[in-house]
Amino acid sequence: MESPPRSFHKQNNIVCLKLCLLLFMGCVPDTTNLSYSQFLDTPAIIPYNSSDMASPFQTLSLDGYLSFDNNHHTAKDFGNVYHHLPSAVLYPKSVSDISSTIKLIFEMGSGSELTVAARGHGHSFHGQAQAHRGVVINMESLKGSPEMQVHLGQQPYVDVSGGELWINILHETLKHGLAPKSWTDYLHLTVGGTLSNAGISGQAFRHGPQINNVYQLEVVTGKGDIITCSGKQDPELFYAVLGGLGQFGIITKARISLQPAQKMVKWIRVLYSDFSLFSKDQELLISAENSFDYIEGFVIINRTGLLNNWRSSFNPKDPIQASQFNSDGKTLYCLEMAKYFNPEETDVMDQILLSKLQYIPSTLFTSEVSFVNFLERVHLSEIKLREKGLWEVPHPWINLLIPKSKIHEFAEEVFGNILTDNINGPILMYPVNKTMWNNKTSLVTPDEDVFYLVAFLSSVVPSSTGTDGFDKILTLNRRILQYSATANLGIRQYLPHYRTQEEWRAHFGSQWKVFIQRKSSYDPLAILAPGQRIFKKAVPII
Ligand code: FAD
Repeated sequence: MESPPRSFHKQNNIVCLKLCLLLFMGCVPDTTNLSYSQFLDTPAIIPYNSSDMASPFQTLSLDGYLSFDNNHHTAKDFGNVYHHLPSAVLYPKSVSDISSTIKLIFEMGSGSELTVAARGHGHSFHGQAQAHRGVVINMESLKGSPEMQVHLGQQPYVDVSGGELWINILHETLKHGLAPKSWTDYLHLTVGGTLSNAGISGQAFRHGPQINNVYQLEVVTGKGDIITCSGKQDPELFYAVLGGLGQFGIITKARISLQPAQKMVKWIRVLYSDFSLFSKDQELLISAENSFDYIEGFVIINRTGLLNNWRSSFNPKDPIQASQFNSDGKTLYCLEMAKYFNPEETDVMDQILLSKLQYIPSTLFTSEVSFVNFLERVHLSEIKLREKGLWEVPHPWINLLIPKSKIHEFAEEVFGNILTDNINGPILMYPVNKTMWNNKTSLVTPDEDVFYLVAFLSSVVPSSTGTDGFDKILTLNRRILQYSATANLGIRQYLPHYRTQEEWRAHFGSQWKVFIQRKSSYDPLAILAPGQRIFKKAVPII
């Protein structure tokens, strides 16, 4: 790759710049209460004069390089709401590039406010992978170091770089007839990015989230130490990092568990107008033996047709009823199931299990797709949305984890009162079994054995003042979050986003103590992942 003009490089380590970073340090603007129009009024990206930068970095000997210019792309993410420009971007070619950069910043001590954010594929929603005037590490530069390596045997696994995209892992492992067990709905995300959160999709009821399907990690801590850890070797760091929101270390390698992969998927959707029947059937399926391989669901609010909901659309290949079914504007609930199979197998659908479900009889929609196309389903929608210019719009998404015992109360208020219209995007809703999840990780979930993931995935139409406009969607989000926080239902945010440490404290609850203990062990100066806004550098961690 060609280096940008102003960069530090091992081979070309001649650039000596004065880095007066402290002069430029400021608080991260609190943008949460701003409207979209205010974002447009203020410069989205705060400019600074990079030529004033001195260089503690000049002593670094890198296999990759540091770039000080043209870094605006790292001040953007999928959410497209927060825009914080870093002072430099590291394009690492080795783990030691990451380690030596962090070590250098660590040695600058708490007097320097320089922070470091790993950036995976930059698909966060609220600036989590950004570092205001800090250093962003472009993790995808690490791809291929080492090369992905599949290990066969009784417990097959693949060793990958932390900057690897899940889609590439899928293609590589399929060459061996294998695939990871647990996915996200969208695979153009990095291993480090999803393992820092959880990685939840329709397989999580059986296999747990992606963080439960990792054997080993290599991590660079906030002190710059390179540590290999697992459930047996340095377990404290291993479990801290999994679901740890990037707070304890940068994942540079991961060992992901695999299983045999089938070639095809039977993909089934059925509709309900009664929420109780819908959730009862979802709960039945996640606890049934020999159930489906994937169970999700979504809510369809106030739609007269079903063909215009991107994520959940019934594509035209579905039976003709799908396009004809008219909801008359009622709220509908769609249960979505998938069964993996090989073409030579017959009778793949569990008819007995299906016959136990209480969906509207005329609404059984089935299709068969390849395993790859099933897992790539959101990317296929992405291609269409990109063609229409509707992908790179603001996405103020919110994800909630709701205890099973409170899901009816939540649904009644949110789908009955708060949301009277669609949110210009899908609303996912499905239960998972917590008994399958490892509770030693940093991920925070509700206290019950079964809880629901409910995701409000709105897309803003930039110039709109209607229900798909920024202000309207933010207002709805705020009402849902306010209700969730005050109704005392034991709801937790997933991919959490808060403004104050008080809110973070409440989010972690009894796990907060462990979280800050781990922070002071592995990143005592709070250098890492400032975009999560949990800790501020140079403020003592107590
Ligand atoms: P980034 O946005 O680049 O980073 C996210 C956070 O992780 C940041 O704090 C960053 O500093 C940190 N980080 C990144 N790399 C590393 C690393 N190597 N080591 C340590 N910290 C690191 N999530 C689900 O669970 N299930 C889904 O089904 C799902 N579907 C999605 C669909 C779409 C279209 C999108 C845009 C997102 C979806 N997500 C889903 C959310 C997604 O998993 C998270 O936003 C994830 O963090 C994005 O990965 P990324 O590589 O882009 O990470």
